Formats: sequence, C-alpha cells, structure tokens
Amino acid sequence: MPKILRVNMTTKEVKFEDVPEKYAALGGRGLTSQMVLDDVPPTCEPLGEFNKLVIAPGLLSGTNAPSSGRLSVGGKSPLTGGIKESNAGGISSQKLGSMGIKAIVIEGKPAEKGSYMLKLSEEGAELVAADDLAGKGTYDVTKICRERFNDKVAVITIGPAGEMLMPSAGLTNNDTEGNSSRYAGRGGLGAVMGSKGLKAIVIDCNKTFDAPVQDSDAFKVAAKKFTKILLDHPVCGQGLPAYGTNVLMNIINEAGALPVRNFSKGRFDKANDVGGEKLAEVAKERGGKATHACHPGCVMRCSNVYPMPDGKVCAPIEYETAWCFGPNLEISDLDVVAKLNYICNDVGLDTIEAGCTLGVLAEAGVIAFGDGEAAIKALEEVEKGTPLGRIIGGGSAVAGKAFGITRVPAVKGQGIPAYDPRSCKGNGVTYATTPMGADHTAGYAVTANILKVGGHVDPNKSDGQVELSRNLQVATAAVDATGLCLFVAFAVLDNPEGVPTIVEMINAQYGTELTPDDVIALGQQILKVEREFNAKAGFTKADDRLPEFFTTEELEPHKTKFDIKDEELDEVFNF
Ligand code: SF4
Repeated sequence: MPKILRVNMTTKEVKFEDVPEKYAALGGRGLTSQMVLDDVPPTCEPLGEFNKLVIAPGLLSGTNAPSSGRLSVGGKSPLTGGIKESNAGGISSQKLGSMGIKAIVIEGKPAEKGSYMLKLSEEGAELVAADDLAGKGTYDVTKICRERFNDKVAVITIGPAGEMLMPSAGLTNNDTEGNSSRYAGRGGLGAVMGSKGLKAIVIDCNKTFDAPVQDSDAFKVAAKKFTKILLDHPVCGQGLPAYGTNVLMNIINEAGALPVRNFSKGRFDKANDVGGEKLAEVAKERGGKATHACHPGCVMRCSNVYPMPDGKVCAPIEYETAWCFGPNLEISDLDVVAKLNYICNDVGLDTIEAGCTLGVLAEAGVIAFGDGEAAIKALEEVEKGTPLGRIIGGGSAVAGKAFGITRVPAVKGQGIPAYDPRSCKGNGVTYATTPMGADHTAGYAVTANILKVGGHVDPNKSDGQVELSRNLQVATAAVDATGLCLFVAFAVLDNPEGVPTIVEMINAQYGTELTPDDVIALGQQILKVEREFNAKAGFTKADDRLPEFFTTEELEPHKTKFDIKDEELDEVFNF
C-alpha cells in the first residue's frame, strides 16, 4: 500500500500514514499543489512553522516508463510568496516510487538550532542529528553520504544558501553518477527545507523500477510504444541526445530571442562560444560527456558532464544556465560559465535566479558586463553570507530594490529565463500568468513559436499566443503530475499517439480507465488549485503582468515590444 511519510520537525516525530482517498489518484505536481492548498495557510510566513515542504514522485515514477523519474517539490515560495512546484531529475524519484512513498511531508520547525538528516530505507525512516554536515556544500554532503551509507543512495540536500534561508536557494538530487546537481532550483524551496533544520534526505534503496503495476503486459506494450514515439522524434531522439538542452543557444540566438546584457538585445555575436555544439566538443576533449541521463530509464539523455580546467566536474550545464551566465552577462567563456554554475550547485542556489541577479548587478554597475572574474567573485560572496552575498541570494527583485534598478526581469519576484518575451511572445504570456512566477517550463511556447513543434505561431506577433500558452500550461501541469520529463512534450505535441499512450501506461499501472480528456481535466484542475492558493495569498490580476520595460523598450533585431493586452492576459485561465 502506498504511504505518505510525515516528518514533524517540531516534535521530531516521523510516521508513515495511509494515503487519503482524495490523494490516491494524484502524483507529482498534482499531489504537491493539492496538499499545499489543503495544508498550508496561504498567508503564512514561508520560512515559518506553518509552511510545509512536500516532495512527491510522479504517477509513473518507479516504473520503466521512459524518462519518468522526475520529482516534484512543493510549498509556499519565499521568493514569490505564492505556491511553488519545482521539478527535478536525479535518482530519488524512481526510488521513492519503487518504495511506494507517495509523498514526504516536512512540517513544523525546531525550536533549537541544529541540522538533521532524514534517513529513509525499506526498514523505515528516522531523523538523525547531522551537525557535522552543517555549512557544507552540496557536493561534499552528497559525497559524505555516499561514503557513509553506500554509493547507490539518493541524496537530496541543501547547501549553505538554504541554511542561510536565502529566498532563491534550491534543493538538489544526485544524478546517476553521484553528482549533486539535479536541482529543484526555482522559488526558494531550499530555504524552506533550511528553515526546518533539515540538511539532507538520504534514500537507501536499491530498487529503481519496482513500483507495482496492475497489468504488466499492457504496461510493457505501452511503455515500448512510448519509447519509440520519443526516439522517432527529431528533438527527443536526435537533438537532445546529441547536444543536450544547450543546442538551443544558437537556435534562440538565430531567432533573435536570446536575452543579452540583461534583456537589452536579442542576439549575441559570441553565442556559439557558449552553445551546445561547443560544449559537446570541449566536454569530449576533456574526457567528459556531451550527454547522459539524469536518472535511470531516461531515453532522451539531455544532460552533460563538463570537466573544468581545475579538475572539478560541472554536470550538467543546461541551456538556461549557459544563457544566464553567458549572453545575459555578455560572457563568452564556457569555463567561466561552468565555474559560476558549479558555485551555484555547491552553495545551493538556483542558477537562473543567480544569473538574472548578476544581470541586475551589472546594470547597477556593481560588476561590469563581460567581466567573468567579477561575476565569480560576486557569487563567491553567497557562501560567506556577506551583505552582497545575501542580496544575491535574495534574487533579482531584491537586488533591483537594493540598487535602485527598475529594469528587473522578474514576475512575481522570480527571474525571467532564457527566452525574451518580446520575440517569443507565447513564453511572455506564460511568464506573466503562470502561478509559479516567471517560469519557462510552465508553458513552453518556444515549441510552436520557434521550434515549429506542434504547429507554428509567429513569435513576434501577438496573435494566438494566449491560446498557445493556455494549452501548454494545462498540458504541462498534467505532465508534471506523471513524473515524465517535460521534454516528452516535443514528441507528444507532434504525434497524435503521444497522449493516448501516456494514458495507456497510467491505466495499466493503476487499473484505471482514464481517457485523454481526463488528462486535460487534471491539468486544468492543478492550475485551478494553484491559482486558488495564490488568490488566498493575496495575488491579483496585477501580479499577472510583465515588467514595464518589456512594453516600452524595443528589442533588436526584430524591433518588438511585448504588446499583448492586459485583458487578453486575463483570459488565459478561462477554461
Ligand atoms: S531528458 Fe534530460 S532532464 Fe529530462 S529526464 Fe532525461 S536527462 Fe533528465
């Protein structure tokens, strides 16, 4: 029987509970968002005793459905003040699914100072003192835990940024090779974990694909069909496995939607120097890997392993990270980008937020655009907890206020990722309206806007963008509930067999009789739940807007402004 593991950090009580009927058919983001709405007072202090951290594998996690090992982490965000689901790869989700753990709920807050570790195995779960891990970076924590227990354990941990309660701190999972680099980065949930005195969760279980499946023959057929759908698609089966997500650098640059110099221009003449092709070449030269899987069973393998000149390994450098530390800061040295990425991974900071924040600091003249060494020095302040370090850990909106900068690329306090909303307007609609704060993964309109996947909607025009973003936000919420990697969407959008095959896998696993329409209804329901939480937390239509400068400043090379009207943005959730 699936269980919920509830950990009370006030009393230190750890107990397994039966799953209430209401949650039985939910998983991943569907479950974390519903539990947060049900159990977290929307106006509570995000770093206080009433917030909860909910960690849930997806509905298909723990099976051998391809690329189904994504983990959802939910709670009230200290960065946005609203609901948050942050989604990560790594090996923990498959283990939790195999162990029948529907969710881990971390609640309460210890009265005394101290660090704890939650140790979970098939024998049970216990909280143990972990003061020896306090203040350590995530790479050290993961290494210590793998040495202390065994090299198969999954380690979910925070770095010093989370312990110092910085609003853009994330929590990380180790990948298949033990690197602590698969981040639930966005929205500051690492600080929520830190506020509860929890430094790490160790999952000691050798199972990977052991989740119970009711009709295993039907499941095998559907999983095989879904694998073929993914591998037959040019993006999922060829582009991602060859160059990883950073293959997008040159594509987005060519489209004129690459945010450069803190969103001042749409093209960077040195984009190729930090793009996926260059990354693959250097990684291979140095004995790294151009691509690898972040969890067992991923067939798209978009991740990479990048050896740095100092002998350390940065894994992976994703497109959004290469962008925010590269073109966004006018830096074209891949080793500098890797170093900034590594510092964030180790200290436990969301890379996108850190990159946006450094862009704001450059706008303010605190560091210079193009000065990689200055960017590294600034980011090193985070671990020291200096005033500048804490401003950086506070995120882009905090940095803007601290230095009097109004060109801050953030919505609901969260930094805007690697696609300029003036020349990828569908993403602009998503950034403005998603309950998560600016988030490209919440409704990735780059598909139809730029990649021409699932149709084509001109990225520089306003026509059709609201409908595109609406459909993608609904579909994404549903995919995030399954535990499938969002990148399956490329194939699913182009192949009419995609959604029905996902439904076949779920039905075979749970003995249900869902239809594709039920999946759409699930996505809509998740968005309604998240918007209800945000409304109760005080969010209004005024929060569903982009920063003013996107509507007043033209973006080169297409001379575009964000011109989708407020009334149109207010229509996104009319379903
Ligand atoms: S496609 Fe990439 S991010 Fe997605 S599960 Fe596979 S390796 Fe992880």
